[in-house]
Amino acid sequence: MMTSDNPFAGFNAALRQALAISTDYIAGLPDRPVGTPVSPEALARALEEPLPEEGCGPSAALTDWFSRAEPGIFASPGPRFFGFVNGGSTPAALAGDWLASALDQNAGMWVSSPAASHTEQVVLSWLKNLFSLPADWAGGMTSGATMANLVGLAAGRQWVGQRLGFDPADDGLGGRPPINVLSSTEIHASARKALSILGLGRSSVRTVPAPGGIVDMDALAAALAAIDAPVMVVANAGEVNTGAFDPLDRIATLCRSHKPGAWLHVDGAFGLFAAVSPQSSHLVRGIEGADSVASDAHKWLNVPYDSGMVFVRDGDILRQAMAATAAYIAPQDGRWDPHSHVPEFSRRFRALAAWCALKSSGRAGYRAIVETCLDNAKTFAHWVEQERSLELLGSSRFNIVCFRRNGDASDALNLRAVAAMQAEGRAFTTATQWRGKTALRAAFDNWATGPEDVAILIQAVKDNLLAD
Ligand SMILES: *Cc1c(COP(=O)(O)O)cnc(C)c1O
Repeated sequence: MMTSDNPFAGFNAALRQALAISTDYIAGLPDRPVGTPVSPEALARALEEPLPEEGCGPSAALTDWFSRAEPGIFASPGPRFFGFVNGGSTPAALAGDWLASALDQNAGMWVSSPAASHTEQVVLSWLKNLFSLPADWAGGMTSGATMANLVGLAAGRQWVGQRLGFDPADDGLGGRPPINVLSSTEIHASARKALSILGLGRSSVRTVPAPGGIVDMDALAAALAAIDAPVMVVANAGEVNTGAFDPLDRIATLCRSHKPGAWLHVDGAFGLFAAVSPQSSHLVRGIEGADSVASDAHKWLNVPYDSGMVFVRDGDILRQAMAATAAYIAPQDGRWDPHSHVPEFSRRFRALAAWCALKSSGRAGYRAIVETCLDNAKTFAHWVEQERSLELLGSSRFNIVCFRRNGDASDALNLRAVAAMQAEGRAFTTATQWRGKTALRAAFDNWATGPEDVAILIQAVKDNLLAD
């Protein structure tokens, strides 16, 4: 039993306070405004104070922060946040995440937590199975798809560099032949960011057109044929504006036919989840022909931020790209050190939230989540199609609906409607540019969104975009 002189006795009250605040907040998600307009000045007034000289204790600290920050908390885990591609948290995922914090394991090495290390291996094998990826691929859990893209592209850089006669991880890139990167114009900003961190540069990508969001295969084949060197090809499985998929099977075949060699990296941040349902699995047909695949867990797996995953065909190349060796962390036989597959050394036990989520819902549960989201997107897209003054953009019909009100001066009109909807808080959408025009996006990947929420979204669009 804990006694009052036990330094850990204070946890009880602190965690109960966190539980009380959390359960209140979560129970209120369906009714709370999705976002509330708050100015930087107002939030500064609410939050800023000098570093306290004396502490107030854990329970008072929690209550104080929550009451002051609340105007700036968005109900993005709730059922009517359709902005970006966010997702929420299932009960099992959130509880697993809490437990990971309480256990406070260092999930970087086997010696620092055999349980965390092996749980991550199990989660990765479950995910490969869920996504129909080969069981013998290597992988790792990351903080999100940006880092998953970074890891996949680091492995690709390593492979291409070796074919060019050097070791990028050991020697760096200075004075070496360039590493070519090919993608479509729709390559995600995070992949460019990863390329910049990897020393290749954001503008190293040669892009080919993607009408309707899908890469033009003739243009890709011509661009590839023009490069008499090994290359990295970045394909989109789920383009972020419209949800379009590049034809992965054809790209994989094309890459295999490139004599000097081609590393195929697939950005499947949310699109990899197409594999979970027979309704959509054709969209990722051929993905097993890729060399690396990046995805997110904090989007469609609905685990809390931050969580992503990367899968790489050749584990040796991955470890060469990510290796860190020192006498004090020498690996032991037969024991897996997750840090050898990802950028960080010490790291959070992310796999536990995903383990609990997958164990709790199973394959069937995730299939149901994906199919409900696709149904919701379809319902909304149908409504858009039937409204004469609205236009559905892009060629994809997946979990993102990109649309705009057409006609003169409609860029300003569309932007105003997004701002009004965000301020009003019924249903949150975000704006984008599609082929030079301002458009709205609604992304469907939250486990809790139901048909009633789609109806509210439709009403909010009617009131804010179609009212005049
Ligand atoms: C969200 C997203 C990313 C970036 O993922 P983060 O988890 O935000 O780092 C990359 N690619 C695509 C297609 C995305 O939708």
